[in-house]
Amino acid sequence: MTAFDYVIVGGGTAGCVLAARLSEEASLSVCLLDAGGEAEDPRIADPAAWPTLQGSQIDWGYETVPQTHTAGRRHPWPRGRVLGGSTTLNAMAHVRGHPNDFDAWVADGCLGWGYADLMPYFIKSEFSDRPTSPYHGDSGPVALMTPDRPHPITRAYMAAGEGRGLAPTDEHNGPRMAGPTLNTLTIVDGQRQTGADAYLPAPVRHRPNLTVRTGCLVDRVVFAEGDRCRAVEVIENGGRHTIEAVHGVILCGGALASPTILCRSGLGAAEQLEALDIATRADLPGVGQNLHDHLLSGGNVYLAAKNVPPSRYQHSESLMYIDEGAGDSAPEAVLACVVVPVTTECFDALDIGTAYTIMFGVTHPRSRGSLRITSADPMAAPLLDPNYLAEAYDRETYLRALEWARAVGHAPELEEWRAEELLPGPEVQNRSDCLDFLAKAAFTHHHPVGTCRMGGDDMAVVGPDLAVRGVHGLYVIDASVIPSIPTGPINAAVIAIAERASDLLLGKAPLPPFDPRRDP
Ligand SMILES: Cc1cc2nc3c(=O)[nH]c(=O)nc-3n(C[C@H](O)[C@H](O)[C@H](O)COP(=O)(O)OP(=O)(O)OC[C@H]3O[C@@H](n4cnc5c(N)ncnc54)[C@H](O)[C@@H]3O)c2cc1C
Repeated sequence: MTAFDYVIVGGGTAGCVLAARLSEEASLSVCLLDAGGEAEDPRIADPAAWPTLQGSQIDWGYETVPQTHTAGRRHPWPRGRVLGGSTTLNAMAHVRGHPNDFDAWVADGCLGWGYADLMPYFIKSEFSDRPTSPYHGDSGPVALMTPDRPHPITRAYMAAGEGRGLAPTDEHNGPRMAGPTLNTLTIVDGQRQTGADAYLPAPVRHRPNLTVRTGCLVDRVVFAEGDRCRAVEVIENGGRHTIEAVHGVILCGGALASPTILCRSGLGAAEQLEALDIATRADLPGVGQNLHDHLLSGGNVYLAAKNVPPSRYQHSESLMYIDEGAGDSAPEAVLACVVVPVTTECFDALDIGTAYTIMFGVTHPRSRGSLRITSADPMAAPLLDPNYLAEAYDRETYLRALEWARAVGHAPELEEWRAEELLPGPEVQNRSDCLDFLAKAAFTHHHPVGTCRMGGDDMAVVGPDLAVRGVHGLYVIDASVIPSIPTGPINAAVIAIAERASDLLLGKAPLPPFDPRRDP
């Protein structure tokens, strides 16, 4: 049996951060395990190729159970199965979230995880093209850029938003999140920067105290006396063996894998585990609960009046957040200008170059679903039920988001590009027809979270120290600990969570809280 101080399970967004930060401490030995291989597919580096990676060898290829409120459809949920995890598949938008998103976490018992607590870690993580702003950093590993040659349709759509009364903003990660602006992207010299590129470049990977093992599927966590986690049991090269962790095991498998590893290890809802003949070590009924995700829609699609040139970036250069409140609340809805046609399986596919899309979605869905394992077999996919659109609030906000998309899409600023609306189409106007359309057009924004929720109550799976309740030496640090989804895409938040968690694990005092809105 091999032994390390820390064993990190999953080399995705969070796992790469933790491997890099923990191995900065030369006296610690760190082992990073991933079920996937090295990121060798050349499409990973090409920002425009990201949609083609879904369903490929590096995608776990999950799908939801049929969704009652989306016409009984099963939704594909891609997840990266490769070093770099879902940052190899993602759309590269870097959006931190609204300050209120994180302050709500504190109100829910997550002390130390508010906006001001995370801000120094957002700054620490990034190498921004806006370093003179107090909101940004210039020496972190994550390279951030803003498109300098945006697509002409993106420009027209942003002007259309402004024309509809949405005041533009300079960027999503500055003083104001709402309004038309360009996305901040994790692209360097025209190539995607994955989490592994950022945090595990050659000098880090070659540290003598860091071991990275790919092709290593973690089945379960193994315990010693006193409920102390002491190892992981893995399947590697066709055999089973254990890898020992002296200080602790850190689960970074993501929101869809970390709870399954917990359940296979006997940490979950006792009655569910008993039904699968898994001995319960700690009855944690919150494991797998609270599953939620952002929905987008594919989409409000327009036939173009002329050929649509390709994007120089990743097709989707601008998210537009819409704050329908007093101006300081977290935005309720989002639009995304995508310069290719985006539709679901319910509609005819359209040729690239002939049409463009205004996707739209709900930023703070209230529907909550669950994840359940169906067997102790680590190869068996879990049942994933996000319970999309179950809550009336989500359906009403989704309807309003469609109205916003159409208002922007039909604006005079887009006249040069617009031939006609194809989807939903001019005949779809009344509430019932719009709801029918939304059920068929609903599309994941790829942000499932919440299945090992952090908090201080009995349903929380981890506390604010990210240690799993009821046992010792076991942590979950990834998208699954997010208690409620932030306004925007979540990768930046997962990075900041892992950055701050690294300091906690190393026994360092967290960086002093900082809120650029108040602090000098
Ligand atoms: C298509 C797509 C588009 C997206 N677009 C954006 C975007 O534009 N902006 C944004 O902010 N977010 C986006 N996201 C979401 C974002 O990338 C993820 O939320 C984030 O990467 C999650 O990080 P994580 O560390 O929780 O998990 P992941 O990055 O998914 O990492 C989990 C890792 O664990 C490994 N693993 C899982 N199970 C095991 C096991 N049993 N044994 C060993 N290893 C295991 C996996 O192989 C994987 O490498 C997108 C995601 C997808 C899929």
